[in-house]
Amino acid sequence: MKGQNTANDFKPLKIPWDITMPDDDRIRAMHSLLFERYGDLKWWPAETDDEVVIGSILTQNTSWSNVEKCITNLKRNNICSLSALSSLEPDVLAPIIRSSGFYNQKAKRLIDISRIITENYSTLEKMSGFPVDELELFLKDVKGVGRETMDSILSYALHKPVFVVDKYTIRIFSRIGIRGGRLDIDTIKGLISDTLGNDGDMLRNFHAMLVYLGKDHCRTKPLCPECPVRSVCGYFITAGP
Ligand code: SF4
Repeated sequence: MKGQNTANDFKPLKIPWDITMPDDDRIRAMHSLLFERYGDLKWWPAETDDEVVIGSILTQNTSWSNVEKCITNLKRNNICSLSALSSLEPDVLAPIIRSSGFYNQKAKRLIDISRIITENYSTLEKMSGFPVDELELFLKDVKGVGRETMDSILSYALHKPVFVVDKYTIRIFSRIGIRGGRLDIDTIKGLISDTLGNDGDMLRNFHAMLVYLGKDHCRTKPLCPECPVRSVCGYFITAGP
């Protein structure tokens, strides 16, 4: 398409990538370049904290557009809250969340987590008064709540200073060349905490900006030429798509 760069138009920069740039400087540079492009995104896309928990279960293995259809259906039926879901049976809920995929399994998981949270804490507001390590131990035992779902609930529903590492984060950090691309969730969380600090709003916005970057540019087939972090990206400068 005329005027639009494609992967085939890609030309590596003529300047050498500074392989000596320490990872913490590279992460700081990523953060400020992303902030210049995206600003304060005020993410996650939900109207209530209950909706964040519901969305974090529904989004497993499906696109967000399918989650939105389910949330709309739940609201239409006046059951888009943990207290309402906790009193339902899976066969009633499953058809309402059909568009999320794996709807029988997700109906059971949504009801289970709603019951467990309301029985143990009553509300998310009361739950948010407990320390992160205690909440992690609690959430780890909830069936269907993996690491990313747990961190999303801690960060976006319970407003804790927790950075969510998802597939976009791992892909971007690997391509940028942080730690030579040898990364796991705890390594990334530790690096970000050591480098950028532990302010919850900053951590949430960094995660949101990485999600946007992953969708806009750092896709499976990356669109590097317009990427805001290309100047610190090892993949762009040394390899190219
Ligand atoms: S420059 Fe390319 S590979 Fe690097 S982060 Fe951007 S889109 Fe991904």
